Amino acid sequence: MIIKKLCKVVGDQYVSESTGERYIYSQDMTENEPCQPIAIVMPESVEEIQAILKIANETKTRIVPFITGQNVGGLTIPQVEESIIIDLKRMDKILQVDEEAMYALVEPGVTFGHMRRYLDAHHPELRYTYPLAPPYTSVVANALLQGLCDLSTRHGAMADFVNGLEAVLPTGELVRVGSGILGEDNWFGRYPLPDLVGLFSGWQGMSGIVTKMALQLFPKPPHIEHAALFTFGEEPTTEILKRIARKQILDDADCMSLSLVKMLLGVDYPVEALDGEPDYATLIAVSGNTEREVLEKLSVVEDEMERAKSKEPRQLLVTWDAISKLMGEQARSWIDFPSDAFKILTEFDGLTWVGTYIHPKAWGKALAGGRKIVERYEFELMAFLKPMNGMHFAEFKFIIRFPKDIENIERVKRCNSELLDFALDNGAIPYKTPVWAAKKLQERIDPQFIALLRRIKRSLDPNNIMNPGRWNL
Ligand SMILES: Cc1cc2nc3c(=O)[nH]c(=O)nc-3n(C[C@H](O)[C@H](O)[C@H](O)COP(=O)(O)OP(=O)(O)OC[C@H]3O[C@@H](n4cnc5c(N)ncnc54)[C@H](O)[C@@H]3O)c2cc1C
Repeated sequence: MIIKKLCKVVGDQYVSESTGERYIYSQDMTENEPCQPIAIVMPESVEEIQAILKIANETKTRIVPFITGQNVGGLTIPQVEESIIIDLKRMDKILQVDEEAMYALVEPGVTFGHMRRYLDAHHPELRYTYPLAPPYTSVVANALLQGLCDLSTRHGAMADFVNGLEAVLPTGELVRVGSGILGEDNWFGRYPLPDLVGLFSGWQGMSGIVTKMALQLFPKPPHIEHAALFTFGEEPTTEILKRIARKQILDDADCMSLSLVKMLLGVDYPVEALDGEPDYATLIAVSGNTEREVLEKLSVVEDEMERAKSKEPRQLLVTWDAISKLMGEQARSWIDFPSDAFKILTEFDGLTWVGTYIHPKAWGKALAGGRKIVERYEFELMAFLKPMNGMHFAEFKFIIRFPKDIENIERVKRCNSELLDFALDNGAIPYKTPVWAAKKLQERIDPQFIALLRRIKRSLDPNNIMNPGRWNL
């Protein structure tokens, strides 16, 4: 019955119950257990989404919003049987770019690749912010997931770039939050208002389907320079990183195990650390209106590096130009977001991480402790730490790429479980949280927070149709 009704809404060709497609949508690259949906529906308009959710609400059919399923957290795998996937890829329009207030209004299927190409062609003075993720992934989904990108060291998580949004509630009503409530062409911000972006941000598709989002853009700086800091030991590395990040001059800083950098520069699997090599490399980006401004910023970084040399003389600052001369095209393409560099992470069919946001006091401890765990499980060392939002916190994770067989999946599960316990011990909060990680988090956090989440969910979604079981709710 429901399938017939859905076909009436979107047309037969945009509803699939085929075994092949249900299989594809039942899993992602992580170790999380697959679960097949009963069908996949691909709407093209807000009205179609409203009609679908009204039908789902009446028939108590479970819905999972999906765009490309590349979240690396199992977040689009249905948690309960008999769910329907709503794939929003067809809604891929950039509806408006406001040059003066610097924002873009986009549909959920718009990808980082679309955004970059569109802005370069039509608004070359403006830029968006890009992750080290495949360019075919959704901008709106990553903003909703509070992800991180190449302006996060300066401006914070991607949810902080959201000016407002439009969403269909689980009961089918269309709502807007942010200054766009006063009409079209007015999506300049989310204050001064009750900040209801929070009803959708971080909810992993449990509270409604976002149909439009207004995203902040930034002036494209005329001058950008990249450099790499090579450092030794976890505490000295994070100390120098903190001192530099506190200067508030960086657009971005990605601190990585050297083995991860070698991978990104094209060294073949399995990449190992060599004796005497630095332990970490941090890729930094600085920008300015003049070359002089950029050089001044780099000289501040250099001064800090010099100061750190009194403790560790082997620390080194190298310009990206020099690295590119040594390593060639791969190095050059890495800094041109969205880049090809993500491909080395998808070398195998398995990819996972325990990603967290973490207090600066724990950075050194987190890198050192996580490293021991990963080494014990004999995975390649791929630590990643990015100071966020002017250094108020950092994103921190150990990435694991793996061939997806039963033995590896079990090893990954045990390793990730230990990594998460260790991260939680250090006050870190997991992001893009798979259900197993949400369960562990919920054992430790204020129960009133979970009670509040449940109340909000119940009031927005009385029949619990939106992604039930997600976040263990
Ligand atoms: C190799 C690799 C590298 C990556 N690097 C980064 C990185 O550097 N930084 C980073 O932040 N991320 C990174 N990611 C993660 C990924 O790119 C993002 O999470 C992604 O952009 C999300 O887009 P998606 O299309 O895959 O969303 P999906 O996985 O399809 O959806 C994500 C979540 O959002 C919900 N959802 C989707 N659409 C809607 C909607 N319209 N309304 C409500 N809920 C919705 C879904 O139900 C799900 O819970 C990386 C991923 C890979 C594979």
